[in-house]
Amino acid sequence: MLLLGKGNYGKVFKARTRREGRCVAIKILPISNSDQELDSIKKEVGILMGCQCPYIVKFYGAYVKETDLWLVLEYCNAGSVQDVIKIAERRLNELQISAICYAALKGLEYLHDTRKIHRDIKAGNILLDRHGNAKLADFGVSAQLNETYCKKQTTCGTPHWMSPEVLLKSEYNKKTDIWSLGITAIEMAEGDPPYSEKPTVAVM
Ligand code: ADP
Ligand code: MG
Repeated sequence: MLLLGKGNYGKVFKARTRREGRCVAIKILPISNSDQELDSIKKEVGILMGCQCPYIVKFYGAYVKETDLWLVLEYCNAGSVQDVIKIAERRLNELQISAICYAALKGLEYLHDTRKIHRDIKAGNILLDRHGNAKLADFGVSAQLNETYCKKQTTCGTPHWMSPEVLLKSEYNKKTDIWSLGITAIEMAEGDPPYSEKPTVAVM
């Protein structure tokens, strides 16, 4: 299988289904005993299973193979918006940025209406299919809010894109995704998020 990318917890490969010959992406995550990793995997599977939206990467199924978990996902040919930024010599134009923001906002509207927070919006987690449609991906740190809609006090995500309330570990809500999308818009226009030259600890 062709390696498409590496993530925090596992690797993503390109594969083809035997029955339909359809291209899919398989995210392979080692099943470990670490609570944090298991928690992240459960969240990702739970959130993906519940999503039916053209602006969110489709989920076809999960399989356990030896000590790994395989998540079978819609294959997005053009890779992530971050890959496209690199190819476009670090800048997208306003038309491109607006098209990607439109799709990301539609995806976020769907998630927020179903009481989910993505928590890791950035160009690296927005994928493009072969028609150029943008879709939200990577739900490893997402939160499903079942009861109250405004409290969550864990810190996760990627510091440069994180909202102040998340960094300060205070209460936050769906608006944290909108903050991160704003940072992503700057990332698409300038190539990097603000303060990217500063190390992560300095940002935090
Ligand atoms: P992580 O949670 O560790 O960040 P991701 O799910 O974001 O992992 O995947 C890592 C990389 O693999 C992405 O940046 C992208 O390049 C590639 N990738 C992930 N999912 C897909 C997909 N469905 N189609 C095509 N490429 C993908
Ligand atoms: Mg990612």
